[in-house]
Amino acid sequence: MDITRSTAADLAASIAAGEVSSVEVTRAHLDRIGAVDDKVHAFLSVDEDGALAQAAAVDARIAAGEQVGPLAGVPLALKDVLTQRGVPTTAGSRILEGWRPPYDATVTRRLLEAGVVILGKTNMDEFAMGSSTENSAYGPTYNPWDLSRVPGGSGGGSAAALAAFEAPLAIGTDTGGSIRQPAAFTGTVGVKPTYGGVSRYGQIALASSLDQPGPCARTVLDTALLHEVIGGHDPKDQTSLAAPVPAVVEAARHGDVKGLRIGVVRELGGEGYAPEAEANFHATVERLASLGAEVVEVSCPNFEYALAAYYLILPSEASSNLARFDAMRYGLRVGDDGTRSTEQVMALSREAGFGAEVKRRIIIGTYALSAGYRDAYYGSAQKVRTLVQQDFTAAFAKADVLVSPTTPTAAFGIGERLDDPMAMYLNDLCTIPTNLAGNSAASFPSGLTSDGLPLGFHVMAPHLADDRLYLVGAALERSLQDSWGGPLLDRVADLTAPATTATEVAR
Ligand code: GLN
Repeated sequence: MDITRSTAADLAASIAAGEVSSVEVTRAHLDRIGAVDDKVHAFLSVDEDGALAQAAAVDARIAAGEQVGPLAGVPLALKDVLTQRGVPTTAGSRILEGWRPPYDATVTRRLLEAGVVILGKTNMDEFAMGSSTENSAYGPTYNPWDLSRVPGGSGGGSAAALAAFEAPLAIGTDTGGSIRQPAAFTGTVGVKPTYGGVSRYGQIALASSLDQPGPCARTVLDTALLHEVIGGHDPKDQTSLAAPVPAVVEAARHGDVKGLRIGVVRELGGEGYAPEAEANFHATVERLASLGAEVVEVSCPNFEYALAAYYLILPSEASSNLARFDAMRYGLRVGDDGTRSTEQVMALSREAGFGAEVKRRIIIGTYALSAGYRDAYYGSAQKVRTLVQQDFTAAFAKADVLVSPTTPTAAFGIGERLDDPMAMYLNDLCTIPTNLAGNSAASFPSGLTSDGLPLGFHVMAPHLADDRLYLVGAALERSLQDSWGGPLLDRVADLTAPATTATEVAR
């Protein structure tokens, strides 16, 4: 068995049956990281000793005849925005360089309790602000499909780790698309669960009313298995839903769309969308129709204003959340030489510790919340948020799921959009409405452009109907793999081959 090319489900079955040990599986992935991560830079830190110790503990439980969970012994890449006790956690920022949190996020704790092996922490845009991972203070991640391109963001590290076969499972967080857009750019699967479906406890907050951790993997079933491990009520998160995890694994195994009403959102397409992305989207809808789905058109007229509302609500919440980085209790401290006031030390530390995009959003958010402007900006944005929610409610009366392209284009070049925040923000046109409304959504691989870059198909489901995403995803995966003669990721570049492209040679 080719360990790093296997699915998480197959690895877990082989480990449980004693055919291979978790230590061997973990070792193989650590070796793969050693062989390719110089090129990809998916990881900010690799916890070799910790991972091997977790793996050995799983092996010992199995040897003792203990019944272990469905992902026990399988390695995972954790986005560096979630805390892991004693392990460096930076959220991609200088201001947290060297910080070792004293506690586990609930997601981290559930993974460890399930015997999932955490290989290391993945690269991301600073504080999850971005769509390319270029806003990381520690340098960008490169897209395994084409190393001259971005892997998307903010969770580019997690998505690239999957596509580079450095880990079969990964965790992301999605505030405006940071799980789904990187999934689309790397030909992997990413799910944003219903808001409150996965605990935010221990996730370094960006915008608390939008943030949602979620599962990422190379197959639909692996994503569902991971969703089930991390999901469910957590008393430590006040917005956690007191509801059982939707039957995602069952749906992923079932994968049937017969009779399912699929709503094509009229507003998510047309001008600004790459013709190839649109053609692929329509071909995918036709494929679902041929599998028995009923296709309807729906209109969500207020989606047009979602991006503008998001870029007021997110900075408002972020400016408040990021006030905690004051250099007093933990993190970077600059200029504390006994000659300066507390305020001066705070200002110097924040000046040195935050990158340009973070500062931009703190300034916008502080402005949007300031006396005299609050109603005009933040207040109006909240009204738009309600209208977007109403659009969803109306659309879900006509359709069981809604669909769109995940992104208007495939992965763009490193550096291409850095000088133009607006061009960067437009990546999330299709993904942001769900964060505003709080319902669930996913991106599934749906094909390649003529340049050989992956495209993603976006599926949105109502609150707590996350299982429908997996129903569609699994049906699509099976049908597409029949056409492709195997997984799309079989076609990703061989990263261990000598450098070929000019940019690669240059690096
Ligand atoms: N790209 C979006 C932003 O920059 C989404 C970020 C996210 O989901 N964390 O805000």
